[in-house]
Amino acid sequence: MANKEFKAESKRLLDMMIHSIYTHREIFLRELISNASDAIDKLYYRSLTDNLTGLNRDDFSINIAADKDARTLTISDNGIGMDENDLENNLGTIAQSGSLAFKKENAANEDIDIIGQFGVGFYSAFMVSDKVTVISRPFGSDKAWKWESTGADGYCIEETQKDGHGTDIILTIKPSTEEENYDEFLETYRLQGLVKKYSDYIRYPIKMAVEKSRLKEGTGTEEKPAEYESYTEVETLNSMVPIWKKNRSELKAEDYNNFYKEKFFDFQDPLLTIHSSTEGAATYNALLFVPAHAPFDFYTKEFQKGLQLYASGVLIMDKCADLLPDYFGFVRGLVDSQDLSLNISREMLQHDRQLKLIADRLEKKIKSELKGLLDKDREKYETFYKSFGLTLKYGAYSDYGAHKDVLQDLLLFYSSSEKKLVTLEEYKGRMKEDQKYIYYACGETTEKIDRLPQTELLKDRGYEILYLTDDVDEFALKMMRDYDGKEFRSAADKDLGLEEAAETEEVKKAAEDNKELLRMMKDALEGKVSDVRLTGRLKSHPVCLSADGGISLEMEKVLNTMPGDQKVQAQRVLELNPSHPVFEALKKLFASDAEQVKEYAKLLYDQALLIEGMPIEDPVAFSESICKLMTAQM
Ligand code: ADP
Repeated sequence: MANKEFKAESKRLLDMMIHSIYTHREIFLRELISNASDAIDKLYYRSLTDNLTGLNRDDFSINIAADKDARTLTISDNGIGMDENDLENNLGTIAQSGSLAFKKENAANEDIDIIGQFGVGFYSAFMVSDKVTVISRPFGSDKAWKWESTGADGYCIEETQKDGHGTDIILTIKPSTEEENYDEFLETYRLQGLVKKYSDYIRYPIKMAVEKSRLKEGTGTEEKPAEYESYTEVETLNSMVPIWKKNRSELKAEDYNNFYKEKFFDFQDPLLTIHSSTEGAATYNALLFVPAHAPFDFYTKEFQKGLQLYASGVLIMDKCADLLPDYFGFVRGLVDSQDLSLNISREMLQHDRQLKLIADRLEKKIKSELKGLLDKDREKYETFYKSFGLTLKYGAYSDYGAHKDVLQDLLLFYSSSEKKLVTLEEYKGRMKEDQKYIYYACGETTEKIDRLPQTELLKDRGYEILYLTDDVDEFALKMMRDYDGKEFRSAADKDLGLEEAAETEEVKKAAEDNKELLRMMKDALEGKVSDVRLTGRLKSHPVCLSADGGISLEMEKVLNTMPGDQKVQAQRVLELNPSHPVFEALKKLFASDAEQVKEYAKLLYDQALLIEGMPIEDPVAFSESICKLMTAQM
């Protein structure tokens, strides 16, 4: 019998398989089972279209048998089978499907990681085998054929005998080496585990004779101590019908919760379950979960988002990141689509139109489900928001605010008037007729913000203020610019858009009258502030700090906590309340002892810093100044 050479491209892929030092060799089983399932599908389909008799859906199965002594692992199916030509064409060349493209894409870069992630089909058998024998008998024929290969040298085909139609793939498992354990692929528990992991939802039963032990009859009584005997029983290893393919009405919350906890190793029920099936431009089933708490590494670089991706019930990727935008990265779950081919590489997947379509749909679905939760069960939504609100806010900030439309109605901020978290829509609905902006103020805690001098005037006028306590908050609002036409405006902003402006005539006049005083103070604070001016925004406080330009004091704080040597500084402005007794004192002092004004300026600046929660440069000097003041009073 002549030995035939593999076609050139097959040879290369084969080489990669044989020599790969890949750790995910285990996927060979998934590949062979998936081929077996396809072969049964083909026959079953034919039985329907050609009205074949004698074929019953329940008779179809895939069988696995391991023989430790012979070191063989056999995967059998009673599917359509292959004749001599099929063997030649299908196994002698790389199928024209994904494998060839896979090979082309990886001609330069033999990135073996890809092998584990995607179907590479039949050849993956060579990752664990020294020899692969295929015995096949096509349906409707009485002839059977044997294809055999020990790897890159080539293969041979000859006629043989086989009972019944279908295909047996017999792998002669490689001997284990010091580095590599191949014996495990002959172990029952390992094979059971692999089927569960990768092929649980194959639609035909995957059967294997499993050795078990039982109490020998008549033992285990008072007279006779327990004796055990072993016996074998054929078990179906897969559950066949995936939960996501079932009808929603058949399922209870408990079914989903158990599935989620088992599959994604969580001890808590999910907060939200989304089960959707779509047909049309993209056909898929999706089962998504929003966890009740953030995983411990969620806010670290180590965290990997992604959904499991199945092609017709076969797992092709454990974490498909392209299916989820970063801001919904907390969603766990899976997508099963018939539109995807099993043999698809990571690079191809990234450009897959179908996948993009699915990702777009999922994003919309997640958004509407979260919005639904917000509308229907506020308490639950707030629990969710506590864990993942930050991600949503980062999302609103990222990509220059490009995701505003998706996210703006999912955001919550603490409200000065409601004393709880509110949506932007709710805020807008409550805005006063003359109110131009959506006001916000930043600080460490809502309590601290509530006492900020900058918020006094707005509160006095009865305007609602959003209290921002997370670093990203102000950045997010700045990126979003406005909500439904209403611009965001910081309470520390120079222009609060009040009808009766912060700079009233009174303030303007006072500024004019005290020009010299203000200039002197500004000189005293040279390098620290860009301006010293009077403001109408303060009520009971003598001073506050604000910032001119795009960077606020809060942003300065946040930016300076980031790694890097470059520090940013907001353009600080010291604002004085002209109707405060302190200003009166300053005026008097300026008339009698102008030099002392300089010291007071520093003191007031330090006070303003403290109110803002910012460090003062020289606490000792600050303390001394205060002491001096106290003793002068006595
Ligand atoms: P793919 O599954 O992507 O086509 P494979 O290399 O896994 O690539 O298989 C090549 C071809 O061999 C299959 O397309 C199929 O026609 C045939 N084949 C493989 N396994 C079987 C089987 N168990 N029964 C029938 N045909 C098979």
